[in-house]
Amino acid sequence: MRRPIGLCIAALMPFIAITAHAAEPSGAMASIEVRHVAPETWRVEYRFPKAVKEIRLDAVGDFRQKAWRVRSPGLKLAAGEKVDVISAGGKPFKAASIEITRYDGRPEKNYAPFNRFSDGGTAMYLGHLQGEAMRADIRLAGLQQENVIAPPQNRQKPGGERGYAYFGPAQAVQADAVQVLVDPKTPDWARETLLDAGAKVAQYYEKAYQRPLQEKLFITVSIGGFEGPGISMNGGAVLGQLAYHFSGAQMIGDHPKKREMLARLVAHEMAHIWQMSTTRGGVGESDPWIHEGGAEAMALDAVAQTGIASAESVAAYRAAQTATCDKLGDKVDSYAGIYACGLARFERLGVGIVPLWRAMMAATEATGDTYSEQMIRNIAAGTGSGG
Ligand SMILES: [Zn+2]
Repeated sequence: MRRPIGLCIAALMPFIAITAHAAEPSGAMASIEVRHVAPETWRVEYRFPKAVKEIRLDAVGDFRQKAWRVRSPGLKLAAGEKVDVISAGGKPFKAASIEITRYDGRPEKNYAPFNRFSDGGTAMYLGHLQGEAMRADIRLAGLQQENVIAPPQNRQKPGGERGYAYFGPAQAVQADAVQVLVDPKTPDWARETLLDAGAKVAQYYEKAYQRPLQEKLFITVSIGGFEGPGISMNGGAVLGQLAYHFSGAQMIGDHPKKREMLARLVAHEMAHIWQMSTTRGGVGESDPWIHEGGAEAMALDAVAQTGIASAESVAAYRAAQTATCDKLGDKVDSYAGIYACGLARFERLGVGIVPLWRAMMAATEATGDTYSEQMIRNIAAGTGSGG
């Protein structure tokens, strides 16, 4: 989302969407081949082990209407409000060929289909290629001389949804358990903040939540341009991956306030990585205020404890979010409410955020259930009675 408003934290609202795919009865996976065939064009070839009657994909704004073209004769794409369907009018098919052209839209509440880098590189969100219950083996091929970096495999659901694949001239930098791909136009202050806050917060979470990362982390930073007014800093956490996207004229020039905003975004996104760093269970599809409000609370604790942000600035942010939540009538049914009132709900529990989320991670792993309000209540009650 782009919001042309100064240093407003609203521009920092990231979104995390994990789609739970129903397990497929058969063990056979579809295969998806993604080939970059021209600077702005990708060919996607679906092949199914058994004939299917349709490919159902969660709608992503007008992405598929605008950027997808079905090449296979007889197949048609019908775009819907919630679901896009590719079919041959009921006739079974085993393969589908699609052409996808560059799309710069950033549909709300969805991962941006493409993140463009200033050097011509592109990151494509592979999750949008996989439908409900579709497990797939994805192969990638770039243009000649192009570097292609695949996102990590879906650790929790083999063949399940994956993050951003990179096609472009840049090479990733390897540092310990982290692989980083930074747009060359990234301002120095932002690059420094990302690396510094990232390292400090990761170290803090590892210790506080007593849990190392389950997998190597792949971080991408792309710059959308500095022409537009204001500042927009976006983050998205996918299994094993963090994708940041920055744009707007106010990205240029160092300022402690901007560093703090970005550090908070980093801490928020990293919190999701830890929320998902469990062997099973984890983030569910309902009640997004739990993982978003939880990430807000975990982030505020982390930036305060690591000294990245001052106590005053943490208090100011908390007060601003509380005011937002009050205006929304303490409801978590809106985009802003998920974050602001989600945070308020965790604060009101009167339980330390670290012991609470440590217990949540243990509970999700022990039961296999996703994080839930009931889980929070049980833990909070237990902690309360135990003194
Ligand atoms: Zn988030």
